[in-house]
Amino acid sequence: MGSRLSATVNGAGPTGALAALALAAAGWRVQLCDPLPRQRLLEIQRAYAFTHSSRSLLQRLGLWEALAPHLSGFSQLHLVDGALGSSVGFRSSDLGPLAGAVGWIGSHGPLMALLLERLEANPAIAVRLGGSESPLPPPGQGQGGGFDLVVAADGADSPSRREQGIGQWHHSYTQACLTVQVGLRGAAADQAWEILRPEGPFAVLPMGAGRHQLVWSAPAWRCRQLESLSDTAFLDALAGALPELLQPEVLFDRPRSFPVALQLAHRLHRGSTVLVGDSAHRCHPVGGQGLNLGWRDVQTLMDLAEKASAGRLAPHRLGAAYGRRRWPDVLLTLALTDLLVRLFSNRQPLLLPLRALALSGLRHSAGLRGLALGPMTLGPWPITFRGSLPGAGTPGRVPAFSTPGKPW
Ligand SMILES: Cc1cc2nc3c(=O)[nH]c(=O)nc-3n(C[C@H](O)[C@H](O)[C@H](O)COP(=O)(O)OP(=O)(O)OC[C@H]3O[C@@H](n4cnc5c(N)ncnc54)[C@H](O)[C@@H]3O)c2cc1C
Repeated sequence: MGSRLSATVNGAGPTGALAALALAAAGWRVQLCDPLPRQRLLEIQRAYAFTHSSRSLLQRLGLWEALAPHLSGFSQLHLVDGALGSSVGFRSSDLGPLAGAVGWIGSHGPLMALLLERLEANPAIAVRLGGSESPLPPPGQGQGGGFDLVVAADGADSPSRREQGIGQWHHSYTQACLTVQVGLRGAAADQAWEILRPEGPFAVLPMGAGRHQLVWSAPAWRCRQLESLSDTAFLDALAGALPELLQPEVLFDRPRSFPVALQLAHRLHRGSTVLVGDSAHRCHPVGGQGLNLGWRDVQTLMDLAEKASAGRLAPHRLGAAYGRRRWPDVLLTLALTDLLVRLFSNRQPLLLPLRALALSGLRHSAGLRGLALGPMTLGPWPITFRGSLPGAGTPGRVPAFSTPGKPW
């Protein structure tokens, strides 16, 4: 691999694929391995909420302009306390005058197609998908199998993490999460909803073309029951769970439920191996944080890889530096999502007045809304929105913020 630094990335999910592109952009030679063939990687049915931290990384890697036409931006986020029946509206302007959008929604397919196209076109990256060969470095060739860096991006059940003997904390929520795409009457195209119901958070995410992605958290037995309903019975159950002004009209796919867990690796690196994405951490889907947190891992990795390429960081110190830099963001995001679930998934009489006070404060203060929204979309270190920042605005037209009606 010449005199350039080299890395192997285990796992070509969205985090591993982006990590390979980021390392190549930092001047490294990269091998990317995944046991799944190309088609299987593309056909995963999932939608993601992208935050400004992800937008910023995609811009840095020259991917944003190509992805933007496949994304649906939203300039308003309605946070509803289902037990209190009150809500607060966040606007993109709460993040700064040039933020343009609170976030974006996009499907896995177009994202993965773009990442694979760029990976395959990059001469510094060798992509090994499918096949029976073990993608893990063969034993007996040193810890990194001859590579300067091993990136474990092989998902929540990470074989690389286990191979390194790194344990993890694991907490299974009693809630599961059900996802489905629907057509909704009464839903504005630029408006997302996070409805904090006593049985669990419920996200309504605009996908454009009259579609909405729903991420419905509820007790696991309830999710299984909902999954087994006929289309008509499901739409009826949905109408009962949504605010009155959102009327479900049509199902675009079958509802599917997933277990939900909080997971955190005991360490984020060992030797030359670093953990990124779900192999390092997993959180509740409230607030759509999972992928964005993993992509901030990639952002840090890229900063350090550039330093190593420039000779300002010894490659064998990269893992430890990565671990030190990532802990605050990872701990904060996991704690915030867990706190949201614990505070709002109940009707505790002692908590209700506190929640009412918090919502009232948010409703009346743009500064507080910015403080609450900032860490959820930018991570703990805010980015300044500057006029020179290309693409911070939403792709497509975003109507001006409309006066929200009472949702409940
Ligand atoms: C229902 C649901 C909704 C979600 N909604 C959102 C959202 O709105 N926003 C958001 O940001 N996040 C969301 N998430 C979380 C998000 O999907 C994950 O955080 C994200 O997929 C993690 O990406 P990853 O690349 O780290 O892992 P994965 O996507 O799990 O990819 C891991 C890859 O590693 C490969 N692999 C496995 N074993 C090996 C091996 N031995 N060697 C090499 N490769 C291997 C796998 O084949 C796979 O391709 C959601 C998750 C769920 C379940």
